[in-house]
Amino acid sequence: MDYQPHGYICKSCGNPAPMGIGYVVGGLAAAQASESINCCLCGYSRKPVTASLVPNGKRMDFLPQLFPGLYIHGEIYVYQNLESIADAYNGGYWNYYALSNGGFYMAPDIAETLHITVAGNFFDGDLSADAAGIVATLFALNRLMFKTAGTTLCDRLMNNFYALRDYAAEHPEHRGIYGAID
Ligand SMILES: [Zn+2]
Repeated sequence: MDYQPHGYICKSCGNPAPMGIGYVVGGLAAAQASESINCCLCGYSRKPVTASLVPNGKRMDFLPQLFPGLYIHGEIYVYQNLESIADAYNGGYWNYYALSNGGFYMAPDIAETLHITVAGNFFDGDLSADAAGIVATLFALNRLMFKTAGTTLCDRLMNNFYALRDYAAEHPEHRGIYGAID
């Protein structure tokens, strides 16, 4: 069977949509348009954000990418945050994740769920270690954004913050994550 180049358009706005989402449109131009985007103009057709574990050989580069310019502070803030919101957390190995939308996060390598209490916003509930790691990473990014307000570093931290927030929106525990950070 011959492969026919094709792309997709959004079922809501009719503009190019990411590959595999919406109505099929034939032609190379449509294929190129779909390949080049993660989201249509109206936001209805969007590619799900996926996370992949950062392999051992790339772990050295991870923290400077997650917390540009301030990675020593960022790492400490993540640990401090989780220690303050999860009673049962007492250190250990952390997994690093890179997101398909350009974001990053880190999460403790723990199988049990963690009991999370955020006094500042009355959150009290259980989260997986993965979701708790997302919360702690968002807190650290937020804190560094305040520290660097008005600088180009702040813009890069903000991009990472919103990329992770978008991923969190699609996470199975999104209610808990948003409850803990809002
Ligand atoms: Zn659309």
